[in-house]
Amino acid sequence: MEEIRIERTTAPKQKPDENHLVFGHDFTDHMFVMNWNKEQGWHDPRIVPFGPLTLSPACNCFHYGQETFEGLKAYRSPDGSIRLFRPEENFKRLNNSNDRLSMPQVDVDFALKALKTLLKLDADWVPHKEGTSLYIRPFVIGTEPSLGAHTSSEYMFIIILSPVGAYYSTGLSPVKIYVENEYVRAVRGGTGFAKCGGNYAASMKAQDIAEEEGFSQVLWLDGVERRYIEEVGAMNVFFVLGDEVVTPMLQGSILPGITRKSVIELLKSWGVKVTERRLSIDELETAYREGRFTEMFGSGTAAVISPVGLLRYQDMDMKLSDGKIGPLSQKLYDELTGIQWGTKPDPFGWSVKVL
Ligand SMILES: *Cc1c(COP(=O)(O)O)cnc(C)c1O
Repeated sequence: MEEIRIERTTAPKQKPDENHLVFGHDFTDHMFVMNWNKEQGWHDPRIVPFGPLTLSPACNCFHYGQETFEGLKAYRSPDGSIRLFRPEENFKRLNNSNDRLSMPQVDVDFALKALKTLLKLDADWVPHKEGTSLYIRPFVIGTEPSLGAHTSSEYMFIIILSPVGAYYSTGLSPVKIYVENEYVRAVRGGTGFAKCGGNYAASMKAQDIAEEEGFSQVLWLDGVERRYIEEVGAMNVFFVLGDEVVTPMLQGSILPGITRKSVIELLKSWGVKVTERRLSIDELETAYREGRFTEMFGSGTAAVISPVGLLRYQDMDMKLSDGKIGPLSQKLYDELTGIQWGTKPDPFGWSVKVL
């Protein structure tokens, strides 16, 4: 791969107030871009001032949805260093998503190098206040300017950066979730395991209804039997059932979260019994009635660990952990954020220092 060309902005922007950061609202001064075509593969890697793209309205991504993305964060440690959390996992997953959508692979090491180069240039944009971070959004779009409904012959890979606030400004607070009965997000054999815009488009309607009814997210059931639990919005889910922690097994329709994987590895290292298996909503209801279902949480890059205080299924309200944060949720949150911000030992080598 060629050298990354750098074109610095001549008009640096004013940085937003770190006390009032809105998720995904402000962007840094620069972005990374490279192009792909059949003859040259990935080429012309460059860092340019953040700004609008000029694309033909016929581009594949606008009509047929060849689009994949990733989400990770850069964290500023109290000692001023800047760290990433398992970033190579994100670019490996991007390649799995690209494969499913018939899009080209990226070189994981090169993508990581591009990200580090961009972060060094925009390092001042990584906020300092406790709990804040710099959200990183790599994405790939099909850009062939043709309405032919076939795999795009041209692509762009782009990385943009956005300073974000603490997910919970007033500490970890439990959310309300309901079990979605009508709509489904993904089916086995479909694109559920890929991180692509299309999965989100398919989930917006249920999400809007949930918000109207005062819930923060929906819990998706499997698309075939509508019995087995899959995941929540942009988070994987875990359930404490007696002395077992259960999370739905990955079988093609669930997004394989990096936070999910890290939670499983942490629990195992603590000697907690954690099982990846099928879990039906009926089993959950029975466990609740018997007093064995005591804690539920979501896992994802944005919130890290998101405790669930109430889960509604049809007419039944399952109240969990007295509407507070369950002990396991709190312990996982403290451990993961400690590793991410470099304030706790990192026995797994997950934290990657960039600067
Ligand atoms: C990104 C995402 C997650 C969480 O993945 P992490 O790697 O933990 O951030 C879970 N579910 C969906 C649908 C997602 O898009």
